Amino acid sequence: MMTITDPHSEAVAASTKWQNQSAAGNAGSQRIDEIYGTDVFDLRKMRERLPKGTYKSVMAAVSNGQRLSQLDADVIATAMKDWAIERGATHYCHWFQPMTGQTAEKHDGLSIPDGEGGVVFQLSGSDLVQGEPDASFPSGGLRATFEARGYTAWDPTSPAFIVRGANYATLCIPTAFVSWNGEALDKKIPLLRSIDALNSQAMRVLKIFGTDAGVSSVGSTLGVEQEYFLVDRSLYHARPDLSTCDRTLFGSRPPKHQQLEDHYFGSIQPRVLSFMADVEDELYRLGVPVRTRHNEVAPGQYEIAPLFESSNIACDHQMLVMETLKRVAGRYGFACILHEKPFAGVNGSGKHNNWSLSTNTGVNLLDPQDETHTNLQFMVFMCAVIRAVDVHADLLRASIASASNDHRLGANEAPPAIISVFLGDMLADLVEQLEKGATSRTLKGGNLDLGARTLPTLRRDSGDRNRTSPFAFTGNKFEFRAVGSSASVAWPNTVINTIVAESLDYLATEIEGKLKSASPTEAQLEKVVKTVLQQVVKEHKRVIFNGDGYSEAWHQEAEKRGLPNFRSTPDALPALMTPKARNVFKKYKVLSRAELDSRAEIFTEQYITRMRIEAETMISMARQLILPAAFEHQRRVAQTVTATEQAGVDATDIREALETVAGLVGRFKSQADRLEAALAGVPHDAHKGARVVRDEVFPAMQALRDLGDGLEDAVAAGLWPMPTYRELLTIR
Ligand code: ADP
Ligand code: MG
Repeated sequence: MMTITDPHSEAVAASTKWQNQSAAGNAGSQRIDEIYGTDVFDLRKMRERLPKGTYKSVMAAVSNGQRLSQLDADVIATAMKDWAIERGATHYCHWFQPMTGQTAEKHDGLSIPDGEGGVVFQLSGSDLVQGEPDASFPSGGLRATFEARGYTAWDPTSPAFIVRGANYATLCIPTAFVSWNGEALDKKIPLLRSIDALNSQAMRVLKIFGTDAGVSSVGSTLGVEQEYFLVDRSLYHARPDLSTCDRTLFGSRPPKHQQLEDHYFGSIQPRVLSFMADVEDELYRLGVPVRTRHNEVAPGQYEIAPLFESSNIACDHQMLVMETLKRVAGRYGFACILHEKPFAGVNGSGKHNNWSLSTNTGVNLLDPQDETHTNLQFMVFMCAVIRAVDVHADLLRASIASASNDHRLGANEAPPAIISVFLGDMLADLVEQLEKGATSRTLKGGNLDLGARTLPTLRRDSGDRNRTSPFAFTGNKFEFRAVGSSASVAWPNTVINTIVAESLDYLATEIEGKLKSASPTEAQLEKVVKTVLQQVVKEHKRVIFNGDGYSEAWHQEAEKRGLPNFRSTPDALPALMTPKARNVFKKYKVLSRAELDSRAEIFTEQYITRMRIEAETMISMARQLILPAAFEHQRRVAQTVTATEQAGVDATDIREALETVAGLVGRFKSQADRLEAALAGVPHDAHKGARVVRDEVFPAMQALRDLGDGLEDAVAAGLWPMPTYRELLTIR
């Protein structure tokens, strides 16, 4: 009798054998203060190793954006090289963030022949400052293949670091990536430009309030909470959908998934905790200030969050967090899944983007402080954010659009695709007062008495949390919650910085224009600011929503208010091509029209390509795995019918089962053909193609999945050719 070789049962057997080996590993064996930042060429190391004058130039470059001379670059390169060699590095690379959304690196040796049979170590100033990666990265039309030159340029504001493994250590130099004619081909350049724009406009506001004394710059701060799944590695690789798409394309939901709510903040299993500790150990060495770890809502889902930093560094560190999670997982027999929706029916993963504004002296400009109603400057910054989100809701939505994030937004587990701002009771009350033209009170949360003598009295926040808002004020920062877990955060932060810069510009201009004298009295200033803010609140309060973002009522209400609701990526991305978008990016010198157009094109193409890969993976799984198993099952049932009848026993029930399976198999087989036809019909033009993928290909994929999941429920368990949801979600 024919048997199907089943990678599935082997994978399950392998996965249950995993043993915690980390006692022999390095995690926890050294104090954090001894390892923290040891693999980073940070300011402290530069101070120790550089001549005073050179160090001063570095400081000027880092804090004021001053350019470094060639001579300085040579001196820094030599010191950096010596340090890296001492730390065991053999190679260096320019580490950059092309439009793929990943990082890229091309390694070159730090040693060159000395001409006498040996080698010397070398890194010149020009090696440090400029590179020319001769490779093709998506450029969205910015480079034709015949003019494929692109350069990487050192970003002195983000320190170099060493990535190491068992037998390698590579010095990574954070760089920006530009085309031959200076157009940004990466995610870092626009981010840095947006930080500059924000700085100029925020400084104007500080000047108005006379709080700019001693402040040399304002930048955005960023703390990113990363959600992820861990799945046993052997199970992961036994599924073509997971190993190629990081997402299950088939899979029937098991009886127990997340409905008991027993995973969120649950105690962390030892194997997972060992993994987390090792990830943290590596990140500490890289100077990433990781702090928080916990179980998330879905089984097998977790979160890691560092302390916030300036946004350029935080974006680089976020890439390192994602890469480290992936790299370390294998050591613990796990695969780490960053995809937004790896499993149907349980929660997906997001990446909460906590954003605020801070002076270089460390003052958080979005800190409302105790008597908020008297804090005019805070109100200006808050209203600038509200206005920015309302004016550019479409851009914010576009900044997080991807094939994978489409599964999450609006699926009642993540914020809806409608962009609104949650303020909480205290600020909502303050905004209402502003609308009336005068502010006279700050709502207080008071204390919570727990009723037991030994427990402390808790200070209560002035408002509850809201988990359903895409853009929520959370105490002293805004949390953009709609960002996808696999996304690079550089782009959404570029958008936030740029649109807030525009609103700060608008408010500063309005206020300056209405102030009659250059040195107004406090009362005059207050009057003007309140008049301007009153108008802003009136015009933009429609974007404020403090209720349940998951409710159907909100969808209707949002429509009444005229808020955009772009449900899918092909709907959302055209926002990048409007005159409004072109103007704002051009005015603040963040992206030229060509640079912006290229991004719209790249994101659209990425959408199509990802969906195509998923659809093709489904078709091959259908034909090579599911159908053979289903045919075999069908054959066995048919055999049982014959044998039963031959034995003179009534086979009606078995025959019925056979007919059900045969029907299902037939429908499944033709649906796979239909999906293939739908794929073949996708037009070449990217924007049209994206819509056809959404309207024809995606529904065909869903239909195929439903039928496949029906087959999974019908086919004998021993014949099913891949690990099931139950196994994927419970074995750890
Ligand atoms: P939550 O309770 O929302 O899950 P977490 O503690 O997991 O919060 O994460 C909150 C994130 O916000 C952390 O990364 C934290 O450092 C960051 N954060 C706090 N203050 C600021 C700020 N001023 N600017 C940017 N991010 C901040
Ligand atoms: Mg959190």
